Amino acid sequence: MTKEKILIIEDEQIIRNFMQAILSAKGYDVLLARSGAMADTMIASHCPDLIILDLGLPDTDGMNILMKVREWSKVPVIVVSARSHESDKVAALDAGADDYLTKPFGTEELLARIRTAIRHTRTPAGSNMVANSGVFRAGKLTIDYGKRRVFLDGRDVGLTQNEYKLVALLGLHAGKVLTYDYLIRELWGPSARSDNQILRVNMANIRRKIEQNPAQPAYIFTEVGVGYRMIEADE
Ligand code: CA
Repeated sequence: MTKEKILIIEDEQIIRNFMQAILSAKGYDVLLARSGAMADTMIASHCPDLIILDLGLPDTDGMNILMKVREWSKVPVIVVSARSHESDKVAALDAGADDYLTKPFGTEELLARIRTAIRHTRTPAGSNMVANSGVFRAGKLTIDYGKRRVFLDGRDVGLTQNEYKLVALLGLHAGKVLTYDYLIRELWGPSARSDNQILRVNMANIRRKIEQNPAQPAYIFTEVGVGYRMIEADE
C-alpha cells in the first residue's frame, strides 16, 4: 500500500515537529508548511491525502485556506486549533472541515481522527461495514439499513422514523462530528428552521432506547454546542 501523504500546516515549530514525529512513526508521508503561502504551494503541487490545519497562521487565517481548498478539493481537513470556542468549531465544520481538535490534544486522539477521516474518503457512503453489508455494528448496537431498524443486543429498540433517520445518518458518518445545522438540513430539508430543540428531544428519546445510561452515552456523544458524533464501528 502506498503511504498516505499528510500535510501539516502549523506555524509553531514545536507542535509541527511533534506531529511530524508521531505521523512519520506511524508510516505516513509527512509534508510541512508553516505559513498560508507555503500551504497553497504544497497543496497544489503535492495533492496531500489529508491536511492538518492550524487556524492561527502568521500570514492568513486557516479558515481562508480551508475555504479555498473546498472550492476544488474534497481532501479531508482536520482543523487543529487553540480556539476552543464552540462557534469556531461550528464555523470550521460548516466550511467543510472533516474534524476539529482543540489544542492541547492527545496523540491517540489525533491518530484516531486521522484514520477516520482517511477511511471516509475511501468509502463515500460512510463506513466500510455499511457499504459492504448494509449493517453498522458497534458493541451491542446494530443499525440495519435494509430493514431501517436499530437493534440493541438483537432486540428492536423501536425508534420512530425521525429517530431512525438521525441514528442512520450518524452511523453513516461514524467517528465524525455532525453539526446541528447539518443534521437539521439533512433530516428536514434546506428550508427547515434551525431549531436544536427538536434534535435534542429526538436524541433524548434515542438515548433512552439505546443507551444503558443516557447521561453517560456509550454510542452517540454530544459535542457541546457543536453537534453529535457516533462511535466508530467495530473493526
Ligand atoms: Ca498557530
